[in-house]
Amino acid sequence: MHRSPFHPPEPRFVTAGEHPLWDEALTAVNRDLAVTLPERQPLCLVAYPGFEEDDGPERVHVAFADGYSHGNSLWPTASAAGALRAVAEAAQETVSERLWQAWPVCTLHGLGMHVTEDPGRPSWWCAGGSRPGDPAHVRAAIGEMDTVHRPRRPNRKRRKDGRPR
Ligand SMILES: [Zn+2]
Repeated sequence: MHRSPFHPPEPRFVTAGEHPLWDEALTAVNRDLAVTLPERQPLCLVAYPGFEEDDGPERVHVAFADGYSHGNSLWPTASAAGALRAVAEAAQETVSERLWQAWPVCTLHGLGMHVTEDPGRPSWWCAGGSRPGDPAHVRAAIGEMDTVHRPRRPNRKRRKDGRPR
């Protein structure tokens, strides 16, 4: 079969249950997406045929509902925390590349956040302000951005733009 990186094949949408750890992680990351970018539809998992031997048969990416994804494929892991970190980082790449904006942003400092390597409780980390006494901090555990973000509830039912971009 002919495969070229310049003509990538169409992705296959991964069905629920194929990758339970990634599914669970994506549910948490989608909670963060829903409170920070409420106008967006949830992200999903898509698969492309592997190019290289260590890819295995498929490479799985975090994508928008129309199949768009950006960045590296998810690396296999046996732990829920590992899956959460992998999916959060992949989601971050896909969202920030598509929307041309940092995501997620710390509402205290206006800075794009990063995934901590905390093996027990992967979290969103912010570099903090430039003033002394305004240090780097962990903003929220991944999947718990709603604890620090007030969702705009009144308009939740109606979308201005129901179509994925
Ligand atoms: Zn901050």
